Amino acid sequence: MNIAEWLNHARTLLSESGCPDSEIDARWIAEDTLGMSWAGLRFESDQAVSPEQLNRLDALLRRRAAGEPVQYILERADFMGLRFHVDKRVLIPRQDTETLVESALIALGGLRSPKVLDLCAGSGCIGLSLKSLAPDCEVTLADVSRDALDVAHINMKALSLDARLRCGDLFQAVGREKFDLIASNPPYIPREALAGLQREVQYEPMAALNGGADGLDFYRRIAREAGDHLNPGGAVYLEVGAGQAPDVLDLLRTHLDPADSGAIRDLNGIERVAWAKTAP
Ligand code: GLN
Repeated sequence: MNIAEWLNHARTLLSESGCPDSEIDARWIAEDTLGMSWAGLRFESDQAVSPEQLNRLDALLRRRAAGEPVQYILERADFMGLRFHVDKRVLIPRQDTETLVESALIALGGLRSPKVLDLCAGSGCIGLSLKSLAPDCEVTLADVSRDALDVAHINMKALSLDARLRCGDLFQAVGREKFDLIASNPPYIPREALAGLQREVQYEPMAALNGGADGLDFYRRIAREAGDHLNPGGAVYLEVGAGQAPDVLDLLRTHLDPADSGAIRDLNGIERVAWAKTAP
């Protein structure tokens, strides 16, 4: 079998088994396993695949066809132009979350050595991206899961970035510390909706997705407690699920009495980030 034939076979198998991005997933598996770029695969598409390579390609293909996300199979995800290690201990970074990072980055503009907290850090994709783009900031990655922090640590080392790792339930992870910016993508799926999520999402840690009865449990706690952890003029930037921005903004306005606040839309036009900034 040559490369073109394998790609064809993989694409067909994946689309028949209900994978939404069969073309891309087949290509990623081939690129990774054969150690070739997409251009290389196309240029040498008539090159024969060795029996060992075929075994490996088919083993990965079977996992993907069974529903496992390609990012867990290849143990990597691209986010903000950086490559993150991911496995089932953490949520797979989503493109939606880049909106949060970009808006937080703008909020950091002009601050000198700002202290940044990434709450529910998971893979560390938010805090580490901020550190990479604004090296001046001092980043703390906090998560309740030690397993998740192990992954964040792998990423911190692999990306040669500096951050502090803290384990604990939301703000308990950071004691009485205060920050200039708190960024978080907390679990926000309403509990009832979890079972109906696409099969790929079922492979991700439920604790990273489950936002309680109405999906807002974590926002309530963050809004109530954030005030004690913000320096004057400090800001909170929260990723929210579709339709949650008005409720989350209400919570932030009620508990933080912010000088300014608002919602920011993602590339699909959905309000994706709720933010609030306290008075200087
Ligand atoms: N901060 C991580 C992310 O955005 C993990 C979020 C989570 O576990 N809810 O991908």
